[in-house]
This record gives sequence, structure tokens and C-alpha cells, in this order.
Amino acid sequence: MSEFEKLRNIGIIAHIDAGKTTTTERIIFYSGKSHRIGEVDDGEATMDWMAQEQDRGITITAAVTTCYWRDKQINIIDTPGHVDFTAEVERSIRVLDGAVVIFCAVGGVEPQSETVWHQADRYHIPRIAYINKLDRIGADFFGVLKEMEQKLGATPLVLELPIGAESELQGIVDLIGMRELRWDQNDYGTTMIVDEIDDSRLAQAREYREKMLDQLSSIGDEETANTLTELFLEDKEISESLIRSAVRKGTLERSFIPVFCGASLRNVGVQPLLDGIVDFLPAPDEVPPLVGVHAKSEKQIEVPCRTDAAPLALVYKIQSDREAGPLSYIRMYSGHLRSGTAVYNIDKRKRERIHRLLRMHANRSEQLHEIHAGDVAVAVGLKMAQTGDTIGSEQFPVILEPMSFPVPVISVAVEPKTLSERSKLEAALHQLEKEDPTFTVRDDEDTGQLIISGMGELHLDVLMTRVLSDFKVQAKIGNPQVSYRESINKEALHHEKYHKLIAGKENSADITLRVRRLRRGEGNRFESEIGPDTLPQELIDAVSRGINAAFSSGIVYGYPVIDIGVTLVAGQYNQSTSTPLAFEAAAAMGFDEACRGAEPALLEPIMRVNILTPKEYLGEVLGNLNTRQAEIVRIDSKSKVESIHAHVPLATMFGYSTSLRSATQGRATFSMEFSHFAPRSGFSE
Ligand code: GDP
Ligand code: MG
Repeated sequence: MSEFEKLRNIGIIAHIDAGKTTTTERIIFYSGKSHRIGEVDDGEATMDWMAQEQDRGITITAAVTTCYWRDKQINIIDTPGHVDFTAEVERSIRVLDGAVVIFCAVGGVEPQSETVWHQADRYHIPRIAYINKLDRIGADFFGVLKEMEQKLGATPLVLELPIGAESELQGIVDLIGMRELRWDQNDYGTTMIVDEIDDSRLAQAREYREKMLDQLSSIGDEETANTLTELFLEDKEISESLIRSAVRKGTLERSFIPVFCGASLRNVGVQPLLDGIVDFLPAPDEVPPLVGVHAKSEKQIEVPCRTDAAPLALVYKIQSDREAGPLSYIRMYSGHLRSGTAVYNIDKRKRERIHRLLRMHANRSEQLHEIHAGDVAVAVGLKMAQTGDTIGSEQFPVILEPMSFPVPVISVAVEPKTLSERSKLEAALHQLEKEDPTFTVRDDEDTGQLIISGMGELHLDVLMTRVLSDFKVQAKIGNPQVSYRESINKEALHHEKYHKLIAGKENSADITLRVRRLRRGEGNRFESEIGPDTLPQELIDAVSRGINAAFSSGIVYGYPVIDIGVTLVAGQYNQSTSTPLAFEAAAAMGFDEACRGAEPALLEPIMRVNILTPKEYLGEVLGNLNTRQAEIVRIDSKSKVESIHAHVPLATMFGYSTSLRSATQGRATFSMEFSHFAPRSGFSE
């Protein structure tokens, strides 16, 4: 058994209101209680604690909360529910090893869960599912299973069945142990009552157990699968531990999604879910090793989870704390770090000291002397670190696969209420920029204003509210503007001859560039067809610098360009007059000219919009979308609501929330995220 076996880094992923907070509270409550077992009867105190916490609601604001269940340490990494905060979701998914996905038994698979599900797919995250709110009217356990298959393309592995439904919900049937579980409400469900399966439910329980065993007999681990099949065919007793180990193997290879169920608010079903986290989700060394890039050789390097290796950690979130300064949340991938020692920031190539290391619990923090590979903690004292930085040592300077974040698509000008507060405002915005990679600040040289850019109106709204509440700076905000991009539609070849007298010295360059349009989303690329035998390497490098600078300064309108491929196809130089400076300038100018001859295009951000509206307002909502040049992708009919999926230009979406509210008496909701760039209407592509 490895030293990491006792550790789980998990996230709880859920659509807003599915019950993430309620379930997390129960997890912390039951695990806190079990961890203190051994202390003399603390029943009273625990119940008080629960009652108090229920009154005000535990506020779990830390980006990671540690608790203990059985002999395991569980780090629960917070994942935000709103898709306007894609970066936050992305960054938390990046550092967790497994996830619990909560579905509401009434709402089923909501669009936001779909988005996050696919993000988790992209990072190959093993998952277990929890169908919550079985006590609500309209709860449909089997309906959610079907939606998981149809909407997510998932293969559910049913491990539990509800006993009763809606207000008659009593507990659950555990198909692995073949028993019924109920919870004592007098101690907030701390005591679990175990019964035999009632005759009236036995047939269904057997049917689903057989189905489960059948699914387990086809997992990748043939030895386990064969043993299971043999025992099953011979009608022999199959041990719980054999089943659990098969479920674990299948979950880790992502053959299926084990499904748990319950009603967290009614204290039903949470402890088996905790068992599931421990039994089925991976330890840090059971996921594929992270791949990093060596800062010097630029070679790809695997970073196995080992404590006796060089230290490497990823800063995955920064929170500012008034007293302590920036809190850097780090995930340790290799080696270990000590508090009170210096650490090397590999991205910034600088050393700085970790004053303290903290482990965050629900209502307290604990000082750590050391953090080991596989674990997550907070480092206090790092002033330079930014989200996404790798920290470690000079001896092993590997940059952990940089996180990819979507581009900010909306901008707005901000000004301080009083001129004297300008520097305070600037400092606040730069602090936020450090914390959030999808938020940027820049000075507009023409107007002298500060321009902030982000993922949507709500995103910028939330951040400006923080400027006021956390940094106490009052600011005026202008109208939001769309961030456009420029590209080209054709291919073009351009010959640039550069000749200039600078300070009495001749500077010359001669290059031929080919520009062409790449696939949407491919990004910009520069390559050289000619080698050092034609042009000295330092001049080729100069051309590369010139082109890369030109990418950000646009063609016709000055917006950044995207999806353009540039090839240096020929070049000539003169021993006495050719300088890198001349080649860099020639590249920038040549790029502009080449693009102007390749049918330049203006591109605008298109948003993926999802609207949930009561059926009676469908016509109204669609009519309104129509005036915004929306392209309706599809409409899903649910029992009471219609779920509209559309692509809409961001430029037409300003003020949409107000307009949707008034059209539907406030009953519809919508979410919006960046989808892609497309030619601005009126421009051809
Ligand atoms: P989150 O947005 O995912 O964090 O969801 P919350 O935990 O805040 O829950 C949203 C609402 O659903 C709250 O009013 C909860 O009291 C309620 N809720 C959570 N779990 C259950 C449940 O099992 N049954 C019922 N009936 N309500 C629940
Ligand atoms: Mg919540």
C-alpha cells in the first residue's frame, strides 16, 4: 500500500441549488464527528454545533477544506457553480483527482452541469454521482439516470435505490451490502440504522444488483472481472470487499459512474457517499502523472507523485487576506516544502520565502510544518506568485503544464470617483488581476482611462463590487465594450525591403513572408522555411520577435489578431548593413502589408447562451432573442420549463438580464459563456 493511499483530493461539482453546500456541510459534520470518536460523549456539543451552523449556514469560503473519514484525509477543493467563472472551474478541476457530481432529483442534468461535466471529461477526472433531494415533490431517480446517459453520455452504475419517494422517502437500499439504511433524525442523522431488505423491495433490489454485477464483470481488470463472473454464475457468495475493489477499478478507468442517492437536507444518504469517496475515488498516485515542461531544455517531463523527489507545486488560486496578505493555494505534485524556507518561483525565476503553511478546515486553520507530494495547502508569504505559477527549486525547474484560460471578451472603462484615488484603484485592480487570470487591466493611452476586461457583465460586476467592498475604492464605470479580434480570409505573399538611416548608419533587411488563415481556435503561429544557411539565426529570431509583436497590434483596427499562420519563405542580408533591429521592423511592417492583401476580417465574440424559461414565456423569449441575431441551437422541453440553447453575438447581449426579467416576470434565468469568434455581421468571411 502506498503512502498516498490515505489521501483524496476531490471536488464537488453541482448545478446551482442542487445541494452542494448542504451536502458539504453534512460531510464536514459527520466526518468531524467520526474524527473525534474516542473523546468522551460529545453528542450534545456536536448537536449544538450543527444547530448553530444550520442557523447561519456554514460559510465555506476557503478554496480547500480538509476533513477526515475512516482513516483517510479528504481535501475538498471548492469548485464554483457559475459558468461566468469558467477560469475558477477550470483551475479547480485541474488540481483535483476525483469528483462527486451532485444532481437534483427534480431538475436532473442541468445545462451548467453539462458544461462542467465536459470539462471534467477533458481532464479525465474519475467521478461518482449523487442524486440529491429525493424527498422533493417530483423527484425522479430513474429519470436522472436516463438523463445522465442521454445528455452526458455517461454509464451509470447504480449502487443504491431510494426507499419511498418525495415526502415518503425513508432511506436507501444499499445494493453492495444488500441491506436497508435509515438515519436517526434525533442526532441529525449521525446514527445509521441497518435493516434487512423488505420483501416488497427485494425483487427490484435483486434486479439492480444483478445489473451492477453484470457491469462489473466487464471492467478492464480481467482477473477481478473473471472472479466476479465465476462466483456469480456458480451462485456463490460475493464478498463486499471484492465488489468494492471492482467498483474502484472501473471508476478509475472511467468505465462507469457509480451512483449514490439521498436527501442531504433530511440527513439521508451522506455517510455512504463519504464511503464512496474513500473507496472509489483515486489517491494522488493513482491518476496519470502530470506532464511539465523543463524551463531550459523545453522538453516534456513527467512528474510522478513522489515525496522523495525535487519539490514542485502549482499555485492554483490566490486569495487576498487583509492581515496575512496574499494566500497562495498550492497543490504539491512532487517532493515537499517546509514553512519558513525559501522556494523558487520557476515562472518568475525568483526566490521568495514561505512564512507559514496552513491546512484549512471548515472553521479553523492548522499550521503545518511541511507539505508533501499529493497534498494541498495554503502558503502565506509569497508576494510574487500568480495563479498558474509553478514553485519548486532551481535544481529541477519544470513548469507544470500551464493552465489554459479563455480570453476576456468584454471591456469597460473605469475611473476613480475622485482623482486622488487613482493609484488606490489601480492597485486594487492589479490585485484582482493577480487572482483571476480571465480578468485584465490596462491603461488606455489615448484616453488615460483604465480599461478592465473579463468574461461577461456579471463577472466584471462582481469584481467591481469587490473593489468597493474589499478595497474601499469608489469607481465610475463606463458602458461595456466588446473586445473584437482581427484575422484574414486568404493567403498572401509579400516581399518587404527595408532600408533606413539611423544615426547615420545604414540598416537594411529583405524578407518574404507568406500569411494564411488557420482553423478557428488554432491561434497564431510563426515558422521559418529557411535555415541558418540562408539567414543567420539571430536575424530569423528577430523576424520571429517582430511577427509576435505584430500579432497583438492588429491589422486594420488595432485589435489583436487570431488564427494567422506566418511563414518566412525567403530572406537576404548584407554583411555590413543588416541588423536584427532592421529585420524586426521589416517583419512587423511586412506582416501588416501581407495581411492587408489577404482580405482582413473583423471577428466578434459569439456567446453560448442557455435560457431556462417557464413554458408560457417561450414565444416571448424567442422573439426577443431573434432581435439579438441569435442562432437557436436547440430547445429541450422539460416538464415545466423550456431550456433554450443559442449562439448570440456578445454585442447584442448587453442589458439582457434586465430585458429577460421584464419579459418573464423574473421567472426565467440564463447563463452565458464565450463560445467562439465569428465574422462580424456585415463583414464577409
Ligand atoms: P448549492 O447551490 O448547490 O450549494 O445548494 P444548497 O445546498 O445551497 O441548496 C439549495 C437549496 O436546496 C437550499 O434551500 C437547501 O435547503 C435545499 N436542499 C438541499 N438539499 C436538499 C434536499 O435533500 N432536499 C430538499 N428538499 N431540499 C434540499
Ligand atoms: Mg452553495
